[in-house]
Amino acid sequence: MTDPTTAARHLMVDSQLRARGVTDPRVLDAMLRVPRHEFVPASLRAEAYEDHPLPIGDDQTISQPYVVAVMLESLQLSPTDTVLEIGTGSGYVTALLAELTAQVFSIERHPALASEARTVLAALGYANVHVFTGDGTLGLAAHAPFDAVLVSAAALSVPPTLLSQLREGGRMVIPVGSLDSQQLQFIRMINGQPAVSLRDSVRFVPLISDHD
Ligand code: SAH
Repeated sequence: MTDPTTAARHLMVDSQLRARGVTDPRVLDAMLRVPRHEFVPASLRAEAYEDHPLPIGDDQTISQPYVVAVMLESLQLSPTDTVLEIGTGSGYVTALLAELTAQVFSIERHPALASEARTVLAALGYANVHVFTGDGTLGLAAHAPFDAVLVSAAALSVPPTLLSQLREGGRMVIPVGSLDSQQLQFIRMINGQPAVSLRDSVRFVPLISDHD
């Protein structure tokens, strides 16, 4: 008998991702593999594969699958990349990054969320992820430069420290804007300068810096 969550993931990938134009086979495969229901609270498991964000505690949310796919596709990740994620939250995107790259460094400011994410990621056998508790706007200088940076919370402007930790040719995706209105920015470092292109309109929880 087919596992019902496998069927739910196939439906999610076909109806929410492929149908809306996500084509990167590595991203689609990773989203077929990662058990999203393991990253949501037990009471919401039945909704794990639906087309919207879900609450994960501490006033935070696990992002909508489609938005996650768009962000991952934009980064054009390769299996040798080292990536930085800001806003671990549930750890779902961390797991996807772990499927798509060599090393994942992830930062979460809520200690309880960071700890739960570490537990789930370890239980699922992800050995190439490192979850830190702290202010992600500062990045992780000790492990820079990164091939890619994925920010899962909305910034009023792009934190300069994160840009400085991207290698030449490195990519970043980040929602930028106010609480109600944000746009995904895709950034590529070219000759030491960020080249920015604007993508989808989105709605994320705010990126909260403790160091303004
Ligand atoms: N990708 C996650 C998204 C979680 S929501 C998921 O799908 O589960 C965004 C997360 O960013 C929240 O958990 C929030 O606590 C965290 N966050 C906000 N500001 C932060 C900061 N300055 N540093 C690290 N994490 C931050």
